[in-house]
Amino acid sequence: MSDAFSLPIGSGDGDLSNHAGGCGKCENCSCDDQPNDKLHEHAHASEAVSNNDSAGKTGPGNEALLTPDEHVLSTLERDGSRRWLRPKLSMGKWWKKRRVVAYVLMVVFVAIPHLRIGGKPVVLLDLVSRQLTVLGKTFYPTDTLILAFGMLSVFITIVLVTAIAGRAWCGWACPQTVYMEFLFRPIDRFFEGTTGKGGKPRDGMGGLRAVARLAVYLILCMFLAHTFLAYFVGTDRLAEWIRLSPLEHPSAFLVMAAVTGLMLFDFLIFREQLCLIACPYGRFQSVMLDEQSKIVAYDPVRGEPRAKGKRPSATPAGDCVDCNQCVVVCPTGIDIRKGLQMECINCTQCIDACDNVMSRVGLPTGLIRYSSQDEIARKPKKLLRARTIVYPVILLAVMSGFAYAVSSKVGFDARLLRGKGAPFSISTTGSVNNSFKLRLVNRTQQDQTYTLTIDTPEGVSLEVIQEELLSLPPGGNVLVPLSVEFKPILTRGQGNAPAVLVVRDESEHRDEINFKILGPR
Ligand code: SF4
Ligand code: SF4
Repeated sequence: MSDAFSLPIGSGDGDLSNHAGGCGKCENCSCDDQPNDKLHEHAHASEAVSNNDSAGKTGPGNEALLTPDEHVLSTLERDGSRRWLRPKLSMGKWWKKRRVVAYVLMVVFVAIPHLRIGGKPVVLLDLVSRQLTVLGKTFYPTDTLILAFGMLSVFITIVLVTAIAGRAWCGWACPQTVYMEFLFRPIDRFFEGTTGKGGKPRDGMGGLRAVARLAVYLILCMFLAHTFLAYFVGTDRLAEWIRLSPLEHPSAFLVMAAVTGLMLFDFLIFREQLCLIACPYGRFQSVMLDEQSKIVAYDPVRGEPRAKGKRPSATPAGDCVDCNQCVVVCPTGIDIRKGLQMECINCTQCIDACDNVMSRVGLPTGLIRYSSQDEIARKPKKLLRARTIVYPVILLAVMSGFAYAVSSKVGFDARLLRGKGAPFSISTTGSVNNSFKLRLVNRTQQDQTYTLTIDTPEGVSLEVIQEELLSLPPGGNVLVPLSVEFKPILTRGQGNAPAVLVVRDESEHRDEINFKILGPR
């Protein structure tokens, strides 16, 4: 997996990279882990295996387990059990910028359902009424073209931004990263402490502290679940539900409980695995990035061969002092020195950690930095390339279509559907009848009564079967049965003739629907 993503330059040294630093337990070991760290012990066991057991089996007592050929997942131990990541925090300049962005986004996420434009919510996805409100504008299921253009615009924007700025979304704005790194991990650090090696807790957490942390998680997840639901039901309905007993709205309560449970599961248990396993965006990186896309990258030309100790050293050495700090801060548990990897969410923590180390040893910062695969390989920058030309052109075309589709919408939607059964009937007086149904949607914020007329051809009379259906409340939609009557001479020869139905509302909106009347040849 990582190999397919790796830069040709830069090399890791196997899964033992998480263990550099000096545990004081093993001979020749330079790891940063605590002596009783499970992964630490396991890494050394694997090392022994690779040296001693050509069959690839694990060490004594573990004969039944096969050592995987390659590192599978950073949240898995080699025996398949969960490896809990407790990344150390590096409070460098990028982290400070991300913290500002994260707090602003948290406030925005909570505030949006409460904001109104023209009396309408800024965003409301009303699944029950099948209406989507964005920036005070409401879209209905009949707005297929607008919704298609809108979704395409979002999709192409994501692809374009990724081609230029890499996984900026993942590291800076994705709710999973924002809440995990700036809300829930700080809570962990508060309850567990960070006084152990590598910023890990000194002791395991249990008893009252574990209960208190769970309570805080539960309260926060309930709050977030309510906020999330407000995007679908609106704050007014949500406030009403909160005031009432759950027994009076059991299904809504169950939805809220399920969303709270899912959030609790995600932030408490599943955590970074959502990015590593479940998120489709990460999986598409190999097709969305190119060699010029911005990524967080380690510079192996400058850093290798890595070696501990002061510079200049007796033996030729690169700038990487092999301190392992970039690894212990990584929230997805990877080693950026192995090259570009799908697991990297571009959170910049390794940049901050390495810059801090470089400053302390008196070397220039930027050994790990925002860069690109070409830049790291000392190739020139190319702003204009196929992706940065073709994607914006497509985006412009799709957004123009979106703007046109939105601007061409009048205050209502009217669609004429031909009635079921025979295409026409002939009455006892010799007149021809066609039956239709008119789908009407009131897109305005006022009650509306509609008037219908047949403009063309002359001699066609219109009958609305239920006149009262032509009055609609704001956002209302209805199917109105109609019939038209005309003399057979109008369709003689062709068996049909063009006709125009004109629909008007009380706000001067007008729409013309072209259709055909059918009759005998
Ligand atoms: S490799 Fe660096 S940027 Fe990527 S996830 Fe780990 S710490 Fe963040
Ligand atoms: S933090 Fe920098 S110096 Fe330390 S191991 Fe990582 S890349 Fe090398």
